[in-house]
Amino acid sequence: MATFVQPHCAPFTPRCVSPLRQFSIAFAIACWFTVLAPGAQPPNQSRHAVVVVWDGMRPDFISEENTPALWKLAREGVTFRNHHSVYPSATMVNGTALVTGIYPGRNGIIANHVYRPDIDPKHAIDVELPAVVKKGDELSGGKYILVPTIAELVQRARGRTVMAAAKSVGLLLDRQAGVAGQLSNANAVASPLVEGERMKVRGSATPTTENAGTLTLPSPLERERRTSSGNQHRNETDGAKRRVTLFAGNAGLRARSGAPDSIPAEIVPSITATLGPFPSGHLQQDAWTTKALTDCFWKDGVPALSVLWLGEPDLTQHESAPGSPAAIAAIKSSDENLAAVLSALDQRDARGRTDVFVVSDHGFSTIERSVDLRRILNDAGFTAKTEFNDQPKLGEIMLAGNGGSVLFYVIGHNQALIRRLVEFLQRSDFAGVIFTKEPMEGTFGLEQATIQSPHGPDVEMAFRWNDSKNQFGIPGMIDADWQRKAGEGTHVTLSRFDMHNMLIAAGPDFRGGEVDELPTGNTDLAPTILRILGIKPPQKMDGRILSEAMVNGDPLTAGLKPETKTTEAVKDLPTGTWRQSLKISRVGSTVYLDEGNGQFQKR
Ligand SMILES: [Zn+2]
Repeated sequence: MATFVQPHCAPFTPRCVSPLRQFSIAFAIACWFTVLAPGAQPPNQSRHAVVVVWDGMRPDFISEENTPALWKLAREGVTFRNHHSVYPSATMVNGTALVTGIYPGRNGIIANHVYRPDIDPKHAIDVELPAVVKKGDELSGGKYILVPTIAELVQRARGRTVMAAAKSVGLLLDRQAGVAGQLSNANAVASPLVEGERMKVRGSATPTTENAGTLTLPSPLERERRTSSGNQHRNETDGAKRRVTLFAGNAGLRARSGAPDSIPAEIVPSITATLGPFPSGHLQQDAWTTKALTDCFWKDGVPALSVLWLGEPDLTQHESAPGSPAAIAAIKSSDENLAAVLSALDQRDARGRTDVFVVSDHGFSTIERSVDLRRILNDAGFTAKTEFNDQPKLGEIMLAGNGGSVLFYVIGHNQALIRRLVEFLQRSDFAGVIFTKEPMEGTFGLEQATIQSPHGPDVEMAFRWNDSKNQFGIPGMIDADWQRKAGEGTHVTLSRFDMHNMLIAAGPDFRGGEVDELPTGNTDLAPTILRILGIKPPQKMDGRILSEAMVNGDPLTAGLKPETKTTEAVKDLPTGTWRQSLKISRVGSTVYLDEGNGQFQKR
């Protein structure tokens, strides 16, 4: 990709938003106001927070050689040595937990791929795709994600936010930018979405007709401000200026057509005019997105909150495996993008006012065995499907594969059938940890993994894992679903290699050159960032403020002691005994899942 020395991005023109027409959702919006109103206050103008996400980066790959910029930053700030993903250790789940500070079961995004018959009765869906999000919002009065993200809270406090994502996760990071309007049909009858709308299409150049990135109605909070001030136009304009979201729309389909998605939609042409079209290579997409942030979005100053989501090393680790030469090169590329961000802050003389968080969403493993669960279940007499051609029938089981975890939806929720399914999994040689919606012997409840939800599956299974080494000498092997081959990389199990990810924070609010050994997790970023920006969250978050690592930490949290406990669930079966365990750490009221695994011992 060409190097741009002094780009000149066109100014972004905020879209005009049309007035609220849908009174049917007024009540839901009124409730939203009630929850959020007390938290409004001006942010700490002297601070900026910049979050740089390296998708799928394992902490054990941080080194002076692999990641020189990150290595140096760690020496200036704090390394969180016991950092955790939320389970399932997947991108969309952790992206949402990162920006809400709330566990998956309470924020609404419990997996990357779920079966939501109200959104699509025939297929499992990708949770972050624009058509899915839009339909989820229509069905819930704009509450597809149940809680506000920090982007929304910063905007509400009149701070500016920029979300720049090289992956499709961007749409979930700022709900004010995306949801807003299009709340038209609260009683919509679900009809199957077309391929490009419900699933990312790998390796296909099929054009999509889906058109995300339109902002047709003001968000609830915008409406609130507008009503209270009585100055509609000014507030709409202010609101649109305060936020921008750029994301790799439909999983690269738009990339091939030369443009990512954005909200507001008008910004893409001004960026492509400067940086050229959105490239097709993973590394080039990350570099492009980084430049969009530093050279375009920061042109008029660094906003209160910036999130840069890099797709690497995740994408390359999936295509090869952790530790492959290509994956190491991808890690170096993420480090170069971090260096570009830090240098852009230096050029603006903003480092002394900016706290930088470098975090990954989850860890990574290598597939020891690819398990064709649909075939195995059908051979055992179940009716297991990965899509329905007709109306789903009672007793059929929809499988939503998430790589290292699978969600099972039993049509009709027959408990005897669910028990038979669970006992089959307990006797298998691939099950790691089994969770059930209703209590069942030898399983944990969904709530023990903080994934309980009205839309949750009847059964969820994390695959088994071990700490043996892959072809590149990197530990962490897992069984995984049918979507990828043995030898390739993936994640989403309860393996310690998937559940432990990286976090390094540096800036004026963090101690220098320290290591934090306390358990920390992705849900802790949102409350910590709000504290730095001087914004009080409207409700208590599940994550905690990382006071122990900060220069002006809360003395009340100084003596926090972590607790770690392992719980076990056992089931005696005629041919042997199933045992599964889950290790959970706790600091105050915040829980962190360390690891979990299971085994069937034959008699
Ligand atoms: Zn990821």
